[in-house]
Amino acid sequence: MRAEGILHPSSLRDIGEFGLIKRIAGKSRRKDPSVRVGIGDDAAVVNVEAYCDTPLLVTTDSLIEDVHFRRDYPPEAIGWKALAVNISDIAAMGGVPEHYLLSLGIPEGISIEYIDRFVKGMTVAAGEYGLSLIGGDTTSSPDKFYISVTVLWKNSENLLLRKGARAGDVIFVTGTLGDSALGLKILEDKKIRSWEDERFSTSQPLNFSTSQLINRHLRPTPRVKEGIQLAKSGMVTSMIDISDGLLCDLGHICEESRVGARIRIDELPLSQGFNTLSAKYGGIELALSGGEDYELLFTVRSKDVKSFMSMTEGTKYTPIGEVLKDKVVEVIGADGGRYIPKSSGYEHFRR
Ligand code: ADP
Ligand code: MG
Repeated sequence: MRAEGILHPSSLRDIGEFGLIKRIAGKSRRKDPSVRVGIGDDAAVVNVEAYCDTPLLVTTDSLIEDVHFRRDYPPEAIGWKALAVNISDIAAMGGVPEHYLLSLGIPEGISIEYIDRFVKGMTVAAGEYGLSLIGGDTTSSPDKFYISVTVLWKNSENLLLRKGARAGDVIFVTGTLGDSALGLKILEDKKIRSWEDERFSTSQPLNFSTSQLINRHLRPTPRVKEGIQLAKSGMVTSMIDISDGLLCDLGHICEESRVGARIRIDELPLSQGFNTLSAKYGGIELALSGGEDYELLFTVRSKDVKSFMSMTEGTKYTPIGEVLKDKVVEVIGADGGRYIPKSSGYEHFRR
């Protein structure tokens, strides 16, 4: 190995697998007394006290180049999102994320700088949500960049499952719907590859709502605080995060709870950017089935709705419909009649 290659590594070939692991460990390091043995040994050792009075919970999610992201997106955003989508699964059960593992399959053509920027985005997310990287795996990949993240977490109070919704419950959603799907359409349509983000590099000036929509796709905000509040409220009967689209994920709640649901298009929370720009890209369908909102979808017992609304005043929780006994998912259109959606959401392998 050339000496200057070690001092100023220009490619992964120069530093190799072990050099890269050291680099990732260095860049993601944070003080966490619960980690007794972190990256560098055969396995991580984590103090059980971190999980002592609650069960240990585990979740994993992968992101694959050209399925979930394009290689020419800013690597910081890919890193942020890889961790954020996992954190969102935890938020959806009312949990608190603690530790994570990172497995990478890296193809030729990806530089050290690219991985550094990827790790930076991930580390910013980890810092914001209080997670420590405790291990992972690093391999070469023949073609695509492959990322797999596993998160260990504990639950805050009550564990909220998809199962538990009962007929009469009111269906709520956090935040706004459809922004992420619209942001993706705009990204693909305009081939935008750089944009403003309050945290990451900026170059191409975009109009405010366009950059907001794109950020909603590339830098989703997992609703951890909200998830904990909802779990603690004792009024929520079921919950899921919206990754595959409102209708698809509502379908999952219904299936697990053995109920149906009715939602009203008029009630769906939409952002100003969405209202201004969605018509050209599919309109309301994006909010119904676009996916990757990473908002929380949950049900509240009808008798508790009033106190729930006053307890959570000031938080963006919007009632959008109710749970039905019959196992159907109905959408009521703006004209009051039944609306038949064009798609029910995203499912891998299905076209
Ligand atoms: P082994 O060959 O015993 O599986 P590895 O060489 O794969 O060991 O890993 C060595 C150490 O580096 C382990 O602590 C592992 O968890 C950690 N590690 C490997 N890849 C990553 C990564 N991408 N991110 C964080 N830690 C990693
Ligand atoms: Mg290994």
